[in-house]
Amino acid sequence: MVARIIPVEPFDLVIFGGTGDLARRKIFPGLYRRLADGQMPPEARLIGAARSDSDDAEFRALISAALEEFLPAENLRPEIVAQFLEMLSYVKIDALGEGGWPELKGKMREGVVHAFYFSVAPSLFGPIAERLKERGIADGQARIVVEKPFGHDLASAKALNASLAAHFDETQIYRIDHYLGKETVQNLMAVRFGNMLFEPLWNSQYVDHIQITVAETVGVGGRGEYYDRIGAMRDMVQNHLLQLVCLIAMEPPARYDHDAVRDEKLKVIRALDPMEPDDIVRGQYAAGPGGPSYLEDVGDPRSRTESFLAMRLEVSNWRWAGTPFYVRTGKRLKARASEIAIVFKDAPHSIFDVPRGRHSNILSIRLQPNEGMQLGVTIKEPGPGGMRLIDVPLDMTFAEALGDDHDAIPDAYERLIMDVIRGNQTLFMRGDEVEAAWAWTDPVIAGWEARGHIPSPYDQGSSGPDDALMLLHRDGRRWREIRP
Ligand code: NAP
Repeated sequence: MVARIIPVEPFDLVIFGGTGDLARRKIFPGLYRRLADGQMPPEARLIGAARSDSDDAEFRALISAALEEFLPAENLRPEIVAQFLEMLSYVKIDALGEGGWPELKGKMREGVVHAFYFSVAPSLFGPIAERLKERGIADGQARIVVEKPFGHDLASAKALNASLAAHFDETQIYRIDHYLGKETVQNLMAVRFGNMLFEPLWNSQYVDHIQITVAETVGVGGRGEYYDRIGAMRDMVQNHLLQLVCLIAMEPPARYDHDAVRDEKLKVIRALDPMEPDDIVRGQYAAGPGGPSYLEDVGDPRSRTESFLAMRLEVSNWRWAGTPFYVRTGKRLKARASEIAIVFKDAPHSIFDVPRGRHSNILSIRLQPNEGMQLGVTIKEPGPGGMRLIDVPLDMTFAEALGDDHDAIPDAYERLIMDVIRGNQTLFMRGDEVEAAWAWTDPVIAGWEARGHIPSPYDQGSSGPDDALMLLHRDGRRWREIRP
């Protein structure tokens, strides 16, 4: 099966922070792949902007090296690489200074889409937005793209939103949460709203509970000092995991369009119950085979920041009352695996001689690795020997369905940048969504800070602290295995 590529229209994309880690690791390699796939038109222009003294030739050399470092060698076709590098240019700009802006304005062409990617610290979002607008570089059609972290609490998120809203309309602002760009995450919506099969069962009457796991094997590594100011709640739950909760829990939007989808997601965040301390487990990895402990990694023996978080959430609305959402995320866990599992209830009465509580119908949606979906069903074990039941997975793994073409699945960043050019905001967070997520998160963090809560240590390579297991055990449930 070969994916159908629909090219986007020509554009000028300015990447502030074009020499930075995110640009080199994700943005430029992603754009290269879109060109190689024929989705990005050869007339597109990519303009890197940063403070360092550099020129077009040096910038092209930097990005050429980034393509070699971050893309598999077999993806690099010399004629496409040459074409891609030709599209690049560099302008020296200090976001807080005065130089370089007229030069940038001179580079922007008439009659093409204009997009500005702010791949810089959030403190620069406002100053860049202001200069782009005041110097007439960005008009009312231009799009701006911003990255997480979008604030560190409600007040800072509101201030960031206000600094952008002073110069750009909400319809021009694209807040990236790259989880929403994942193939399986979008497929979750396709499966729910494109079929008759699931939606009638998608509620507390038929769904026993939901589990969302985002597990990493890496520690905080060189980012220790930064991470220690943030923790798993701000780094993963407030944004990525809550977005996944929203997509699972939301009502069917009337249309697949940006405001219809985001209105429904917003309602979910607003329906989240405040958290009770008993429903939260926080942990920090101990020293182990993977390396030093969290406390050693961040260089602060008294740090109370969590590298692991497990929570039991309730969405208090008509559809979900009584169906818990268990979410967990952490570092230095036993495998790198992200999964959503919709665990359906048992049949109301079993005519077979099998124990209750088997939960054989589980829709599992893997975000990484091996993006794909599986639906567990019970069937008769084939062959003679009477009525013996077995649970088998109906496999919808994309890599297999797409055969050799599975490299054609665009990375989340690639897809999202193409959506920016198309002017499709559906997979980007709206300002009020971000604020609502912080409004829910802030009191949870304030609660554990006020109690002076100390995260529990957990073994590296484990599934997190034992208390996290208890979170489900006390409800008569258990976590799914974290499998690579
Ligand atoms: P980085 O490696 O430190 O790069 C920062 C970039 O911004 C550099 O190109 C830097 O170049 C430029 N810059 C800094 N100050 C500037 C100024 N005053 N005016 C113009 N350019 C300036 O950071 P990063 O990791 O790429 O992250 C960029 C943003 O994305 C951050 O907000 C980060 O939190 C977010 N993010 C990053 C990742 C990731 O994987 N790296 C993932 C998610 C979100 P000069 O020093 O030459 O100016």
